[in-house]
Formats: sequence, structure tokens, C-alpha cells
Amino acid sequence: AKRRGPGHVEVFDSAAGGALQRRWAVATDLRAAIDADEMTVVYQPVFDIEIGVLVGVEALARRTSPTLGPLGPDEFVPAAEQAGLIAALGERVLRRACRDAAAWQRLLGAGAERRPPSVDLRVNVSPLQLRMPGFLATVDDALADSGLDPSTFGIEITESVWLEDSDTVRAALRGLHERGIRILLDDFGVGQSSLGSVTRFPLLDGVKIDRSFVAGLPVARSEAVIGAVVSVAEAFGLDVIGEGVETPEQLATLLRCGCRRAQGYLLGRPTDADSVAELVRAGG
Ligand code: C2E
Ligand code: CA
Ligand code: CA
Ligand code: CA
Repeated sequence: AKRRGPGHVEVFDSAAGGALQRRWAVATDLRAAIDADEMTVVYQPVFDIEIGVLVGVEALARRTSPTLGPLGPDEFVPAAEQAGLIAALGERVLRRACRDAAAWQRLLGAGAERRPPSVDLRVNVSPLQLRMPGFLATVDDALADSGLDPSTFGIEITESVWLEDSDTVRAALRGLHERGIRILLDDFGVGQSSLGSVTRFPLLDGVKIDRSFVAGLPVARSEAVIGAVVSVAEAFGLDVIGEGVETPEQLATLLRCGCRRAQGYLLGRPTDADSVAELVRAGG
């Protein structure tokens, strides 16, 4: 430990110690945010890019800490997982998102003709959450409380979940499927994910092509990969959503590859629930 004058000894003075301390501070803040129901949720619009209509939103968790400032999910999700808080955090996000989405669905129901038929909600679910025996009951409760139609709801999970040999996870996925809840494979194209994995899981409803692939467009090789993903997905009746579209060229290439759905900064940044309601009212 480093000395800073008489009697003062810092416990953490290495880079690793600093990271540990930061993680502890984040976890402490999250615990407070969860208890006070102060987690924020923003929504990134997903469009049918062939006809330019809003078809859904992805819920993304946010946190602005009074002491640490704005925290991103890339930092606080792993911190929550490590601190045993991910189930509680996920439940807060889920309940909030279902309530918000139910309100949009009511707008649609009252709607004029130009309004999209449905604005589906997608929520990211950590593998740890799916492994908890209470997960399905929490989903049921969130849907019942909000009145959200299960067929407009879906979860996004990463491939590590498919590869997991767990009865709890399998039962959870089957239960979701039986309820008409969509299951999407997130970040497709990174890690060990392969076209084979898409064909091996009958419960899958769609794949999301990772931003890193879309960012590579319009390079011929990336284009060929996306074209192949779209063909295989279509053969298996799966939706394909392109993520992270930032340029008109990327959008045009996705369309050329037959990818009908997309999200990204070019089309819409993550935004609050009121702004989504405006978008829904305006007809997407
Ligand atoms: P993800 O599921 O792949 O979500 C997409 C991420 O890309 C989001 O980052 C989004 O803001 C960002 N993004 C969207 N369009 C663009 C674009 O055009 N360009 C670029 N550069 N980025 C774009 P965010 O919100 O920071 O989330 C990061 C990750 O944290 C998510 O990746 C997801 O895996 C995780 N996450 C977010 N919310 C939750 C949650 O409620 N629960 C769990 N378990 N994980 C969450
Ligand atoms: Ca996602
Ligand atoms: Ca993703
Ligand atoms: Ca990601």
C-alpha cells in the first residue's frame, strides 16, 4: 500500500484494485437504484426498412448515479451479475418496459390507419436471469400486471445460452415459446455463433446481426455473410434484424441482402418512452 502521510494507508492502489473498487461502488449504487425503482429504460426503434414502418423497440437499461454519474449497461450489467443483482435489475427493467409498451399498444388500438399494426417489445435477458427458477413466473407477472399481449413481447439472448446444457434454461425457453413470446438470438456473428446454431434451435424466432458485421458494410465479404445469414434464416422461418446501422450505404446494403428489419443510429437512437409514444402516434 502507498503511504500518504502519517496514518493514511490506501487499501487499493493498483489498477486492479481501482477497478475492483469501482465495481463495488457501481454495485452499491445499483442496489440503491433497484430498491428505489430508479433504473431508467430507453427504447431504440426497430424498423421494417422495406416500407419504412416502426415495428418494434429494444429496451435498453440506463442508470444515472447521483455519485458516479451516467453508467452504461456494458459496465453495470456485469457488475450486477457479479453482485447477485441481475435478477432484481432485470425484473425492474422488464416491468417498466412492459408497462410502457402496454401504453403504446393502447395508442395503436385507438389508432388511425397509418399507425403500425403492432410495436413489439424486446428486452435483453442475461443468461444468469434465465437460469433462475423464478424467471418465467416473473415474466408472467410482468405481463399480467401491465396487460401486455405476450405475442408482442420477446427476449434477446446471446448464444452462450443455447450452448448451455441446463434443464432450467431449456424449461424457461420452452415456457416462453408456449406463451407466444419471441426468442431472438442477439449479437449474431460474434463469438462462436454460426449458421449451424441457428438451425439447431427450434425455439428460435429470429437473429440479430451484430453491429460489427453491419459496420463492415458495404464490403463484399460482409455482404456475402449477411446474404447467407438471411437465406438460412428465411429457410427456417426466422426474422433477421440488422443492428447498428449508421450510414445510408449500410442501410442500402442490408436491403440488398434481403434483410427487412433494422435498427441503428441512422434510423433512431435509444429514446425515452414519451418519444416512442410520439413516434407511434405519428405512424412510425
Ligand atoms: P445490445 O443488446 O447489442 O444492444 C445494442 C447496443 O448498441 C446498445 O448499447 C445501443 O445503444 C447500441 N447501438 C444501437 N445502435 C447503434 C449504432 O448505430 N451505432 C453504435 N455504435 N451503437 C448502437 P447499450 O445501450 O450501451 O447496451 C449495451 C449492451 O448492454 C446491450 O447490447 C445489451 O447486451 C446490454 N444490455 C442493455 N440493457 C440491458 C438489460 O436491460 N439487461 C441486460 N441483461 N442487458 C442489457
Ligand atoms: Ca440486444
Ligand atoms: Ca446486439
Ligand atoms: Ca452487445
